[in-house]
Amino acid sequence: MNPYTRLLRTAVLPIGSLLAGYGDVMPYLRGLESSQWWPMDQIRELQNAKLRRLIHHVYTNVPFYRQWMDAHCLHPNDFQSVEDLPRLPIVDKHVLTSNYPDFIRDQSIPQKRLVHAASSGSTAERLHYWTTKSQKARKWAGLFRWWEMVGYEFGKPYATFQLAPNQGLRDVPILGQLEWSLLRHRWLSAQEMTNEVLAHYVDLLAKDQPVLLRSYAATVYYLARRMNEEGYRLHIPAILTTGETLTEHMRETIEQAFAPGRVFNEYGGDGMQIACECQQHQGMHINAETHIVEIIRDGQPVAEGELGEIVLTNLEATAVPFIRYNIKDVGSLDSSPCACGRGLPRLAHLEGRLTDMFVTPDGHWLTVHQFTAFFAKVTSVKAFQVIQRQVDDILIKLVVDDSFSDADHQRVLDTFRGYMGPNNHFTLEFVGDILLTPSGKRRFFISEVIESTGATLDAEDATGAV
Ligand SMILES: [Zn+2]
Repeated sequence: MNPYTRLLRTAVLPIGSLLAGYGDVMPYLRGLESSQWWPMDQIRELQNAKLRRLIHHVYTNVPFYRQWMDAHCLHPNDFQSVEDLPRLPIVDKHVLTSNYPDFIRDQSIPQKRLVHAASSGSTAERLHYWTTKSQKARKWAGLFRWWEMVGYEFGKPYATFQLAPNQGLRDVPILGQLEWSLLRHRWLSAQEMTNEVLAHYVDLLAKDQPVLLRSYAATVYYLARRMNEEGYRLHIPAILTTGETLTEHMRETIEQAFAPGRVFNEYGGDGMQIACECQQHQGMHINAETHIVEIIRDGQPVAEGELGEIVLTNLEATAVPFIRYNIKDVGSLDSSPCACGRGLPRLAHLEGRLTDMFVTPDGHWLTVHQFTAFFAKVTSVKAFQVIQRQVDDILIKLVVDDSFSDADHQRVLDTFRGYMGPNNHFTLEFVGDILLTPSGKRRFFISEVIESTGATLDAEDATGAV
């Protein structure tokens, strides 16, 4: 460990986070750095112990669980291990929000220590919940472990490419600046991407030589595409992507721009840091000391390796408990050993948000991957967005350049007819631009059908502490 990293880890960060009320960050991070190498059985024992503690706590302190368990003749002692978890109900954003602010909150935490949080869903109802500084500190520790897993150390330069910066330390800009300069953090706005801005960014990054670039997947994908078009090359060892589905095409484009750097996809949402790829790039390691991940289809667990909806239990959250929370994403589990040696189980596939998939009336799932892979081959299409207006009525918005030909048009029509089948209606609309969401994401897929049922829209901005 170099002296500057040591100084940050042993003095600057512990004192700074303590002053800001997030003193749990560094002790918790040290624990996670060690426990990731435990055998899987030992991690499972830790989960069981934390689950027993959590169920006791919510039974005693959270009216929602007290009432539900009493009504179903369940007692905390009925929950000895993770296998007992399915005796509790699956909840979702609707359940939490409709029982917010009081019925689902931890009554043992004084109101003044509760921090309101909301997911960044753009059009549908947002998720509202309580958290605490201690809970947030543990979340950041989970985030920092992923950064370290992909090659970052405190004190090495890193960059964030986003629309809006995080609040600085204690929301005081001057302290935020100090924090950023001590940590050698470069923040780049994705707000404007003219050729001049792009060239300036490439210069800045070439000067800083960050070991880590963090971004929403779609944002850095657009940057990389522009860099490839303009012939810019920049080596950044690790590109940490988050926020929405990362397709193979997006990964290849980003890795081309930052070669020989690699993309590491991270998965979080609704206030949780859930999983991240290691150097093996074979699935994403789950923050299993903090989260239990179940994979469910039609309310029942599926066999390992099969796709289903991701249901999460946050073992650290009590302010509003997230116990069997259906985050409305689709994935599968892999508990086989990883070549990196970590005992943390993996999400083998993250097929995408439910909102990155449409189900047609004949039961066929359309995924965002089909569309990104197809449009990657049609170079005259600069951007696209697919909107499911009714279950059988799909609007496709395209931004094209002058080279878009009749043959391209026909190819798009033929391909979409193939995807949709004969019973579904679709419309092409040529537009000048695809608007970003209020939280700054470029969404490829929007299902007004799913959103009208209130499914989760976007992952909460998973950018964390600094
Ligand atoms: Zn691994």
